[in-house]
Amino acid sequence: MRSFRRKQNRFPHETGFSNFIVLLLAAVLAASQVLPVEAASIFRQLQRDIVVVIDPGHGGDNEGTKENGFCEKEMTLVTARALYDRLSQYDGVIVYMTRTGDTALSLKERAEYAKSVGADFLFSIHYNASENHELFGSEVWVPLEVPYNAYGYQFGSTLLTRLQDMGLFIRGVKTRKGDNGDYYGILRESAALEIPAVIIEHCHVDEVRDYPYCDSQEGLETFGYEDAEAIAMFLGLSSESLGVDYSGEPEDPFLQKVYTLDPDKVVQSTLLDDTSPEICSIERLSEDYAGLQATIQVAAADYDSPLMYYTYSLDGGLTYSPRQPWPGSNTLTGEYQDVFQTTLKIPEGTIPQICIRVYNQFEAYTESNVLEGYSVFLKPREEAQNPLQESSLETLGAAVSKTEDSSADSLEASAGGWLGSREKTQQENTGAHTIRIQDFILVSLLAALAILLLMMILQIAQTQKRYRRRHNRKR
Ligand SMILES: [Zn+2]
Repeated sequence: MRSFRRKQNRFPHETGFSNFIVLLLAAVLAASQVLPVEAASIFRQLQRDIVVVIDPGHGGDNEGTKENGFCEKEMTLVTARALYDRLSQYDGVIVYMTRTGDTALSLKERAEYAKSVGADFLFSIHYNASENHELFGSEVWVPLEVPYNAYGYQFGSTLLTRLQDMGLFIRGVKTRKGDNGDYYGILRESAALEIPAVIIEHCHVDEVRDYPYCDSQEGLETFGYEDAEAIAMFLGLSSESLGVDYSGEPEDPFLQKVYTLDPDKVVQSTLLDDTSPEICSIERLSEDYAGLQATIQVAAADYDSPLMYYTYSLDGGLTYSPRQPWPGSNTLTGEYQDVFQTTLKIPEGTIPQICIRVYNQFEAYTESNVLEGYSVFLKPREEAQNPLQESSLETLGAAVSKTEDSSADSLEASAGGWLGSREKTQQENTGAHTIRIQDFILVSLLAALAILLLMMILQIAQTQKRYRRRHNRKR
C-alpha cells in the first residue's frame, strides 16, 4: 500500500506560509460573501460518519458483459466484496452493498436502497467490453447534474490516477446525455434521489492489453482495493488499523487542483465533444524496403478534447490495424503529443498506401491523407527461408527495377527468369550442383543417342533376316 504523507510533514515552512495565505484569502472571500465551496471538503468536513453504498453491477438474469469466458455480474461481486472489506477498515465511514449475492435488482431499486440507508455517495462497479473488441482502458462515468458532476469528477480523477499508475490506459471521466438526463440509469435514478453516484468501468475484458488485469480473483480484488483507497482519499478518511491518513491535502498537484474545483459548475472536460479531431496529417520520413519497414510522421490535434487512440491502414483505408494508444495521451490532464514518428511493419511483397485514423476521447475520428508512391517492400533473397516462396518473389522482383536490394545477384536472377534464379540459389546452397546437373543431362543425351543407334542396328538386322528367309523360300 502506498503511504500518504501530509504535505505539512514534508515542507513545514512552506505550508505554514501557504496556510497563512489560504486563511487570508478565505477571510477576504468570506468578507465579500462569495466563498467557493470546495467539493471534496463537503465530505471531508462532515462531522458525522459518511455513508457509502457499493453497487456490484448487474445480477440475476442481468449478467452484464459475457465475453472471453467472463461473466460481469460475478466479477463485479468479487471486486465489490474486496472494496467493502478494505473500505470498512477506515474510520468514520459506514459501508453498504446493494447486493451480496446473485440478486436481480432494477436500477431504481438500487438507488432506493441507497436512499434508505442514507447514502452520501453510490459507487457502481462494472467491467467493460466493446462491440468490435478493440477498445482498452478504464473510465468513470459521472452525472451531468451539478454539484454531482464535480464530485464524480473529483473521485474519478483520484481513482484513474491510481489505475494509470498500475499501467492501465485511461479513457477519462465523462458524462453521457440521454433523452431525460443522464444516459446511465443508475446515475439518473441516484441523482433523482439526491445521491451523487459514479459508474466505474474498470477495464475491458475482451482486449488483450486489459485482460491480464481481470483474469484472476486476485486481479478483481486488486481493483476493489484500489477503489477503496481512491474513495478514502476522496473522502479524506483515515484508518488507524491500516496506518493510513488521507485527511490532508493530496500530494499530487493535479489532484490538489481538482479538489478545489467549484462544484456549482459542470467540469468542461466531462462533457461530450461531438466534433472530430480538427487536424490529422501524415508524411513520409524514410523507408527500409529490405527491412519491411516504413517510418512516418503523424501530426494531429483536437481543440476540444485529448486524442486517445490511432489506427493505421496499409491499403489506403480499406482495413485498419487494432487500436494503438495515442502517444502521451492523458485524458485526465487533457495533454497529448501533437506530433510523433512511428515505424510501421509492411508485409512482404506489398506496395503500401498508408493512412491514419485518429480518435479523440469521445471516439470521434478523423482520417489523414494517404501516402502513396512506395515501391514493393521485399527482403533480400539471402534472408528468405522458403525456396518456393523465394522463387515466386524473384519473379516479382524482375518487374521491379527500383528495389534497393537489387544487387548483382538479383539482377542476374531477373535476367535469367524463374529458372535462372532457381539455379543460382541451388548453386549458392550446394556448391557445384549445377555442374552435376549439366553432366547428367549430357550423359542422358549420349545414352539416348546410343539407344537410338542400337535400335536402328537391330531394325536393319531384322530386315535383312526377313529378306534372306523370303529369298530362301523362293529358292
Ligand atoms: Zn456493467
